[in-house]
Amino acid sequence: MNNVNLTINGAQYEVPGNLTVLEAAREVGIDIPTLCFLKDINEVGACRVCVVQVEGARALQASCVLPVREGMVINTNTSRVRNARKNTLELILANHNRECTTCVRSKNCELQSLTEELGVRDIAYTGAKRTPSYDDLSPSIVRDSSKCILCGRCVSACKNVQGIGILDFMNRGFETTVGPAFDYSMKDVPCIYCGQCMVVCPVGALSEKSAIHKVWELLDDPKKHVIVQSAPAVRAALGEEFDYPIGTNVTGKLATALRKLGFDKIFDTNWAADVTIMEEGTELLGRLQNGGVLPMITSCSPGWIRFIEFEFPELLPHLSSCKSPQNMFGALAKSYYAEKQGIDPKDIAVVSVMPCTSKKSEIIRPELEVNGIRDVDVSITTRELARMIKEARLDFNNLEDGTFDPFMGDYSGAGVIFGATGGVMEAAIRTVADVLTGEDLEQVDYTAVRGVEGIKEATVTIAGKEIKVAVAHSTANARKILEKVRAGEADYHFIEVMACPGGCVNGGGQPIQPASVRNVIDIRAERAKALYSEDASLSIRKSHKNPEIKKLYDEYLGKPNSHKAHELLHTHYYKREKFPLE
Ligand code: SF4
Ligand code: SF4
Ligand code: SF4
Repeated sequence: MNNVNLTINGAQYEVPGNLTVLEAAREVGIDIPTLCFLKDINEVGACRVCVVQVEGARALQASCVLPVREGMVINTNTSRVRNARKNTLELILANHNRECTTCVRSKNCELQSLTEELGVRDIAYTGAKRTPSYDDLSPSIVRDSSKCILCGRCVSACKNVQGIGILDFMNRGFETTVGPAFDYSMKDVPCIYCGQCMVVCPVGALSEKSAIHKVWELLDDPKKHVIVQSAPAVRAALGEEFDYPIGTNVTGKLATALRKLGFDKIFDTNWAADVTIMEEGTELLGRLQNGGVLPMITSCSPGWIRFIEFEFPELLPHLSSCKSPQNMFGALAKSYYAEKQGIDPKDIAVVSVMPCTSKKSEIIRPELEVNGIRDVDVSITTRELARMIKEARLDFNNLEDGTFDPFMGDYSGAGVIFGATGGVMEAAIRTVADVLTGEDLEQVDYTAVRGVEGIKEATVTIAGKEIKVAVAHSTANARKILEKVRAGEADYHFIEVMACPGGCVNGGGQPIQPASVRNVIDIRAERAKALYSEDASLSIRKSHKNPEIKKLYDEYLGKPNSHKAHELLHTHYYKREKFPLE
């Protein structure tokens, strides 16, 4: 593409001819405010906050969808432009439930920031507001249309990034709103609760169903022995809530914060990720050696499980029967740990801190219960943990680095990388390769399955046998792979799927970064780096080499996939009917 010459605010520039005016301005250091725009996800020119004045054009133009052309003369900062942007914001705010003091997104709201930055102090327009709808019936997501600014980002994320299409615009004119068809509750539509709509929403119209109060209640109950587990991806993002740069690993401060919050034991889901590899790796070897259903597909992402149950039920036999690490941890906390400590499982409460909003729905799946007891009692997101830390007035940034408790808190590097796309696959290959060769192989890095490419494929030769693997992240990419499997065109042995783009590091429960950050930084890649560098720093990087895992099997489970392991750590799936909705 040839370059073009243009003039912005009186200065001349040469820029690539395939840019929009917004991109061209930003490339030369001129910022234009935006609200609905989100790079690669929502480029629709709907809100008109990004308008500019182009010489020769009567109307102001939305710069996010306006291509540059040779000789263009653009003004981004005239009175007319500034007034139009303010006017647009005033109109949005006039129809907005402005309860900033109690809003879950206060201080992390793009509308609030823009109002302040553009100097909107009065709202000239008063009158009726559209009829609001509020839905908090699902286990994971709260939708409050009184705060929706109709930007369409959630619609694009659900439809284009996830390939699902639960949300869309409804009604006409003043009563236009965004939500599931016919204003159904999120609990009554085939939503997978991934939360990808939530992390792109610029305001407080979509949020997680908070369970913070349940955690405080458990901590206040002297009869309960409250154990907390924290997922691998939490440490790679929690620091963002306390102004650390994206990709800072805060494992030490996380451990100290959890201890100071008052949990009786602080353990690490990384340990359970190691257990998952023992179970899943053994299951894979069994299928390879005994003619089982192939390709086998991972089962640790609950949004992905809902997706396949809704969309491809005929492929359910391909799923590994392993519970997710979150639930494996809970099941073992209420059996193995309870027995070792002499505590009645009914007196143990397990809280999980997850990067995921779908985990909130996973913990209430009845088929995961063991003897009528739920594995996990409460699941909160990384964001909710940050709120608890703030509410408890802990000075997170100045906390000393602590460590997780031993026993169910010791983990290998393989457990750490579960939080990034490709991590489960790489962790599994490390163990399967050792088992098939009967050696302690030096190779631990399988970089072909790393990175943010939507679908990754690799062939790994182990003990003379070729194992073909694929990794997909986001359900839109998972759909592509599943269609190949259904058509008999996929000769993979093993497939990893994570519902969220980038894997758990970019889960729906992670800290929300505004468009101004997401447009320029790939937060998936930065957070993943934090996990890979922790993996590289550890002396034990294979799940089966973790001494606490060896102890678990020697002293309690027997061997992977044993009868006892099956009772506690495996599950089954079922077809979910989309209509009637379930
Ligand atoms: S969404 Fe933003 S502007 Fe609206 S109430 Fe919440 S913080 Fe305030
Ligand atoms: S949670 Fe996921 S599936 Fe549900 S509406 Fe949001 S993006 Fe779509
Ligand atoms: S719910 Fe949020 S992301 Fe969706 S249209 Fe409304 S403001 Fe935009």
